[in-house]
Amino acid sequence: MLHSIQPGKHGPFGEPMTHAVQACVHCGFCLSVCPTYAELGQEMDSPRGRIVLMKQALEGTLAWDAAQLHIDRCLGCLACEPACPSGVSYHDLISPFRALAGSKFKRSATDKLRHWLASQTIPYPSRFRLALHAAGLGRAVRPLVPAALQSMLDLAPPSVPPAQTWPAITPARGERRARVALLIGCAQQVLDPDINTATIEVLVRNGVEVLVPSAQCCCGGLAWHSGDLAAAQSFARRNLAAFPIDVDAIITNAAGCGSAMREYHLMLRGTSDEARADVFRKRVVDVALFLARLGLRESPTGPGRPQRIAYHDACHLANAQNVRREPRDLLRAIPGVELCELTDAHLCCGSAGSYNLDQPKIAAALGEKKARAVLATGAEVLATGNIGCLTQLRTHFAKLGSNLPVRHTIQVLRDAYNPRAKQG
Ligand code: SF4
Ligand code: SF4
Repeated sequence: MLHSIQPGKHGPFGEPMTHAVQACVHCGFCLSVCPTYAELGQEMDSPRGRIVLMKQALEGTLAWDAAQLHIDRCLGCLACEPACPSGVSYHDLISPFRALAGSKFKRSATDKLRHWLASQTIPYPSRFRLALHAAGLGRAVRPLVPAALQSMLDLAPPSVPPAQTWPAITPARGERRARVALLIGCAQQVLDPDINTATIEVLVRNGVEVLVPSAQCCCGGLAWHSGDLAAAQSFARRNLAAFPIDVDAIITNAAGCGSAMREYHLMLRGTSDEARADVFRKRVVDVALFLARLGLRESPTGPGRPQRIAYHDACHLANAQNVRREPRDLLRAIPGVELCELTDAHLCCGSAGSYNLDQPKIAAALGEKKARAVLATGAEVLATGNIGCLTQLRTHFAKLGSNLPVRHTIQVLRDAYNPRAKQG
């Protein structure tokens, strides 16, 4: 019997999902780049296998929860998109499918508790800071913590930096070349607030006025990628209201946040906010891309000696936003820098939002593999563009007994402007 997806049956997501499913010709070129296929070696844990599972669930020939294990294991890293010769738009499929599956997948009580804890803490900086302190205490009584929640203890760094705030407006230094609004991120401003400080410093030094809208909130990415559509839409609407649109760009410095904001039109598809979201998302630009396009007005002086820097492509920067060359160009603009490329650079580090909470074994295997690939380069510093990757790789370097510094690209650039200053 021939089955087909009925686009209308799946609400506003029916059409993009149908389009993505129909574009797949099952050639299998995507298998070799998929981290979960590399780890688990099963067709159902590959992009092609997952597309078949989603197609069957959407057609009604497979129970939704029969697809759950393999859909849950997908990192959402989108390495499969650039590898696909047929142009399958996997991002139009995976997050909408998870949104539709939210009520259909069966979750254990501990899974629900873990999701609830993550959704009620990570997007809210003051709660997240408290949760990290609590996790630090929890490590001391680890045997008393339920096994299903222990992955949350491992996420917490050994220390949490003091809270920081940033001015509502920081004027450009010298003649103004552009005016932007900055997303300061929720987890990032807690885990490594210096990234925002460095972003503002580099932008103003290069003639950019930076606004930090006070009413902004979490980008909604965590909710969107875990299938909580209502929460994702609520965050998206708050940011649509909070950010001015009469700026040259809405700047993000966390790849996951940038790619989520660039999907606001999909999150709000079929609602009265869809058109506004489509205008908004086109203004969202990663800081590395923005600076590379603008051009550095002031050249960094560098550390004053040769320095080997390894660069890790955050999946949501390289695959979701096609930003690969620009961060490398910025790093190469620093005198003395030699850039090191990683073996298997296309493989995700396993961070992927809340993935290292939900799938700790696969996340740990990928994290260790990436950390070893970085160490093999002999680099003195690792640069990357996403707080999730920074945190994941700091954890795995520490596990391997390495204290290799892990910095955001913009921090490396800021330090190269101030080679003698001690940075946070
Ligand atoms: S490479 Fe593209 S067309 Fe080929 S199996 Fe993968 S998703 Fe389908
Ligand atoms: S998003 Fe990543 S993990 Fe998921 S199917 Fe594509 S390559 Fe594999």
